[in-house]
Amino acid sequence: MDFELSEELLAMKEAARDFTEKEILPNVEKWDEEHYYPLEVIRKMAELGYFACPIPEAYGGLDIGFLAQTIITEEVARGSSSLRVAFNTQCLGTAISILRHGTEEQKQKWIPDLISAKKIGCFAITEPDSGSDVMSMKSTAIPDGDGYILNGCKTWISSAAQAETGIVYAYHDREKGSKGLSAFIVDFTSDGISTANLDKLGTRSSPTGEIVFEDVRLPADALLGKLGDGVKICFSSLNQTRLSCAAGGVGLGQACLDTAVQYCNEREQFGQQVGKFQMNQELIANMATEIEATRLLTYRSAWQKDQGKYGNILETCYAKFLAGEMVTRCAHSTMKILGAYGYSTEYPAARYYRDAVVYQIVEGTVNVQKMIIAQDQLGYRKANR
Ligand SMILES: Cc1cc2nc3c(=O)[nH]c(=O)nc-3n(C[C@H](O)[C@H](O)[C@H](O)COP(=O)(O)OP(=O)(O)OC[C@H]3O[C@@H](n4cnc5c(N)ncnc54)[C@H](O)[C@@H]3O)c2cc1C
Repeated sequence: MDFELSEELLAMKEAARDFTEKEILPNVEKWDEEHYYPLEVIRKMAELGYFACPIPEAYGGLDIGFLAQTIITEEVARGSSSLRVAFNTQCLGTAISILRHGTEEQKQKWIPDLISAKKIGCFAITEPDSGSDVMSMKSTAIPDGDGYILNGCKTWISSAAQAETGIVYAYHDREKGSKGLSAFIVDFTSDGISTANLDKLGTRSSPTGEIVFEDVRLPADALLGKLGDGVKICFSSLNQTRLSCAAGGVGLGQACLDTAVQYCNEREQFGQQVGKFQMNQELIANMATEIEATRLLTYRSAWQKDQGKYGNILETCYAKFLAGEMVTRCAHSTMKILGAYGYSTEYPAARYYRDAVVYQIVEGTVNVQKMIIAQDQLGYRKANR
């Protein structure tokens, strides 16, 4: 067992930190205030290969693995939790699913454009009446001639209105239950697709929206995997996108700690720095320990994927569950330490507070992560199958 990052990974971490400091931090508050989606920065991230780490060179990737990407994700999220989402839209929720389940033609056609951010991607599972209960979705893609006709409504989809390519989950045959769900690679320039942005509390530089599919004609080669593979592909995809959530939580948690430590060393009350008060020290100690624990769980999940253990649902849930809880506690603690200045827009604590909550919701809520972990421990349903 070796807990040290290699020299290459340390160099990547440092380079990603430099990128965040130069390209993200100077503008992050303005973007957040204006709900601005900095596509030009996402394209720069793509140029640096940020979305290409776990993708083979044959499809334009770097083939340097999930751990490398995780470390970069953490550094980006330290600057902007919103920009973390692009790791999922361009790679973990899209390109990786095509890599694992697509035909050679599909891989050549879609993966290079996604990881280079030439095309913005999305993955569409959630519907107005179907959140945690994925199988209750109503969208259909009914076989018709040599293709399919897609109908339905998806909501809370990251980059819905910006996407040019999306993995969409829909029933090709509702009668078949879970075996009737399939996954499709959809060209979002097709006729019959309309989108609208949704307003939200945080993660404001990552747009989220609704998509309506009205008699959208999909060609035969839109099908990802086989008919009926939708459940397998969907849950496998969530197991990869949860990794970026865990890494994002670690990055944002670290940003909370950095801000709190700096403030503790600057602000004076009762004739001394507020960091000298034991009650603030307790908050700092809890934050530092929880961040480090989550970081280790997250790196282990990424490392396992690099060993070919893509199906490490349990270990990824541990990381994602703790990340959601840890980052909301860290954001709250930073808010407490900064007092009124935390509540002001002069410091980033308010943005951290708004951005942190989403880690308890996306890619399976905290309750869903707990359900998977508890059912595994109780022997009801193995998480890693
Ligand atoms: C900013 C943002 C971006 C998103 N991006 C995407 C995206 O790109 N693609 C996509 O498909 N979706 C996306 N989502 C949707 C997200 O995945 C869902 O919000 C999430 O799965 C939870 O669904 P829900 O919000 O409908 O909550 P519900 O499922 O309605 O849950 C409501 C509450 O009940 C709890 N609950 C539900 N079932 C159980 C149970 N069995 N046991 C215990 N408690 C339970 C939940 O934990 C929650 O507290 C995004 C959401 C947000 C906010």
